[in-house]
Amino acid sequence: MKKWNMVAVTFFAVLLALASCGDSSSGDPTGTHTHEWGAWATKTPATCTEAEVQERVCSLDATHTETRSVGSALGHISNSWNWATLVPATGHVSCARTGCPGGIAETGDEGPGGGIIFYAKAAGFTMTDTGTTAHYLEAAPEDISGYVVWQQFTNDIPGTAVTLGSGRKNTALIHAHADLTGAASACVAPYDAGGTKTDWFLPSKDELNELCEQQDLFGNFTTFNYWSSSQIDSNKAWVQWFVDGNPYDVVKTSNCYARAIRAF
Ligand SMILES: [Zn+2]
Ligand SMILES: [Zn+2]
Repeated sequence: MKKWNMVAVTFFAVLLALASCGDSSSGDPTGTHTHEWGAWATKTPATCTEAEVQERVCSLDATHTETRSVGSALGHISNSWNWATLVPATGHVSCARTGCPGGIAETGDEGPGGGIIFYAKAAGFTMTDTGTTAHYLEAAPEDISGYVVWQQFTNDIPGTAVTLGSGRKNTALIHAHADLTGAASACVAPYDAGGTKTDWFLPSKDELNELCEQQDLFGNFTTFNYWSSSQIDSNKAWVQWFVDGNPYDVVKTSNCYARAIRAF
């Protein structure tokens, strides 16, 4: 009896020693050794959106590995968006960094038309002429030259709207109807400062307000009223005074300034 007890005690003591031999805190599944870690090495380099991941391997068993995150993501290279990679559904574009997973361009960046982006959101907004979603608005760096009327003669232009996404349709409606001396027609002319886009338009009331809120990105708006493409009635259209940021109703044959924008 006593002898069998001794054997059992010894047996369990050995089991206990085996179980506690390894370094259980480092995750060794077999519990048979203390890991001998090699040097940390880069597993995946840092990208625009992800930090570098490093890995080290146990010299006693190469299946034992540890990883850690080091530093922070690199961030996109500002103002280097490749517009050829634009994903229309999300507004994602890749920056100049190799392997860039893509992102949303920022306000203040140069747009594909050579303007300055003043609106950039992943959610986007609906263009009322095509029903497609746009994510960005860019404005020309300069006003169209000098004062301009909304219309030479006051005519009703049915169908204009004030919402984000309606400026391009508004402009087409005005351009098709009005004489060619007005603000909308002036904005339709391709912006010729090296730009290649021909789809510039006069912003709607809400688009103009977005531009007003981001006017510091441009730094060259005048202290005069700016036309929107949103008609109030046959006589008047909405303008915005960028000095106080408020919209005003102005007779269409008045002289105001205009800034062309485009959506994409
Ligand atoms: Zn190990
Ligand atoms: Zn990037």
